[in-house]
Amino acid sequence: MNTPTCPICQAPISGRMDKKYCGDQCRSTANNKKKLETQRILLVTNQALRKNRTILKTLCPQGKATVRKEVLVMLGYDFTLFCSLFMTSKKQLYYMCYDYGFTPINENGVEKALIITRQNYMGDWNPWKFIK
Ligand SMILES: [Zn+2]
Repeated sequence: MNTPTCPICQAPISGRMDKKYCGDQCRSTANNKKKLETQRILLVTNQALRKNRTILKTLCPQGKATVRKEVLVMLGYDFTLFCSLFMTSKKQLYYMCYDYGFTPINENGVEKALIITRQNYMGDWNPWKFIK
């Protein structure tokens, strides 16, 4: 059987079988690495969300606007990121990004986004409504 090695310094690990690191210093190094990685993920995600909001705000200065999907794509909008969801009674889904949001629409075969600003009634969302 191979002796387990420390993932930080590659030294062989002796002692208890469930030990992950060779010692306190490598465990602390590993924990710091994990913390930094978490911070990096939050930072990158928050930056992208803020960028999305800026794009929506720029394209929608009057509370409501319709733009082609390509405009959002061209400006670098990240469709995978949003802050909340809102669905109208007609099952139109709005992807909210802070106080702005959009719903995908199709006008005569052209993919567009209807951009809006958040309204007070948009706070209601029940994720369990959609499971059978
Ligand atoms: Zn080590």
